[in-house]
Amino acid sequence: MTHLVDKYPVFGQQFIAGVWCNGRDSAVLQVNNPFDGSLLSEIVQADSKDLDEAYQKAAEAQKKWAATSPAERAAVLHRVVQIFDQRREEIIDWLIRESGSTRIKAQIEWGAARGITLESASFPARVHGKILPSNIPGKENRVYREPLGVVGVISPWNFPLHLSQRSVAPALALGNAVVIKPASDTPVTGGLLLARIYEEAGLPAGLLSVLVGSGAKIGDAFVEHEVPKFISFTGSTPVGLNIGRLASSGKHLKHVALELGGNSPFVVLADADLEQAVNAAVMGKFLHQGQICMAINRIIVEEGLYDAFVARYAQRVSALKVGNPHDADTVIGPIINAKQLRGLVAKISRAKEEGARFVVEGQLVGQLLPPHVFADVTPDMEIAREEIFGPLVGIQRARDEIHALELANDSKYGLSSAVFTSSMERGVRFARQIKAGMTHINDIPVNDEAHVPFGGEKNSGLGRFNGEWAIEEFTTDHWISVQHCPRHYPF
Ligand code: NAP
Ligand code: MG
Repeated sequence: MTHLVDKYPVFGQQFIAGVWCNGRDSAVLQVNNPFDGSLLSEIVQADSKDLDEAYQKAAEAQKKWAATSPAERAAVLHRVVQIFDQRREEIIDWLIRESGSTRIKAQIEWGAARGITLESASFPARVHGKILPSNIPGKENRVYREPLGVVGVISPWNFPLHLSQRSVAPALALGNAVVIKPASDTPVTGGLLLARIYEEAGLPAGLLSVLVGSGAKIGDAFVEHEVPKFISFTGSTPVGLNIGRLASSGKHLKHVALELGGNSPFVVLADADLEQAVNAAVMGKFLHQGQICMAINRIIVEEGLYDAFVARYAQRVSALKVGNPHDADTVIGPIINAKQLRGLVAKISRAKEEGARFVVEGQLVGQLLPPHVFADVTPDMEIAREEIFGPLVGIQRARDEIHALELANDSKYGLSSAVFTSSMERGVRFARQIKAGMTHINDIPVNDEAHVPFGGEKNSGLGRFNGEWAIEEFTTDHWISVQHCPRHYPF
């Protein structure tokens, strides 16, 4: 086992090319606990000179790293997994304090981040090229898979540890270097904590840097810098669309992975098991206060089960515990920040104005917003059209299966989705007609397995994470042909 210090110190500095240092910007970021407002850390922000240094040093370090053996790279990732296990409680505690995760959610996130690390440890030995025939006499076509070089990772605050690590671990495993820009709400769990873990695991200096800085200030420079060949962005659709534009119309062409917003439909057909569907709709909506890209955004119930579903769902949701995220039985913890909370309160008012029927509501206390459920929602209402990202949900009535499908597909997003039915054939038929990257039959739309492709369609993004799909994303093909005997040219 790796020898570890007892407990990590407060994370108050940037991590640039193996050195813990202050940023060169004049602004100081205060990191607060969203539940009680306590100050967790203060970090002097990074500026464009810090950014340039992180990228240049990453480019230097990457050349040597790409030449290491698969076993050497895998060993670093295995040590990271060991540290995840040894520091499980410390990591979970940071997720609770910094991102307002309930204990249940923090444990799930720890597991997901650990899972993708372990999966990534298999990548160095799984990446392979190809030999293809040629129509030219005496030629052999080879395709080599090479690392991309330096990868820039921008992550959001909702699942900060996992959504950074699902890019960082595969990128490093496959011989790339990485610079992370975590969200300003979660610089520790989205970046600095990982930097410390990789440092402890013996990752050579320069291969991973973490720049803490405001997206509005350094975001464009982070994407447009000449060094990174690939930008892996997870966050909102408007910011993602801008990144896609910068990566393809600026001075340089870059690969991008864009994992953006969602508006997951959760469809309950009339032959579904009511109790199972209700249980799933509670978990699939309210895990992490609904602040998950895959979270249920619209519940669509076929006529025959509608009234029974609404009544049973309201009963279950009203009983959810709202409170201190440290408590093992708390389901609803704090909303990440005041701005998000204001947006959610405005969405509640608009749902009322637009005529949705309240079946569950509650009083706001500090950053704690209790669940709100609306019935008789129609597809034109804001709560159906827009991504909610909070503990609110609307229920829509479908006349039949065809209408349910029409409602489900009535969105500019296409990340995840779910359908409940007691007929598997019907479920598969329905699922295959949903325009989304992911659909779960008789389960919640919130699912992520390290070896299964994760990603969206439409405005939910481009690219796939996990398993062999990540191997493709984080490498590129190089066609090398070998002409074994002299070739005859026409002139
Ligand atoms: P966000 O505002 O787009 O922020 C995400 C990241 O982008 C943060 O690190 C942010 O930095 C940075 N950023 C902001 N402006 C930028 C700019 N102009 N250029 C470059 N980077 C910039 O999203 P969020 O509010 O943190 O996260 C919620 C959203 O993420 C939701 O829409 C959710 O659906 C989506 N999401 C998608 C997935 C998925 O896998 N598809 C997973 C989780 C979340 P600052 O914090 O410094 O502003
Ligand atoms: Mg905070």
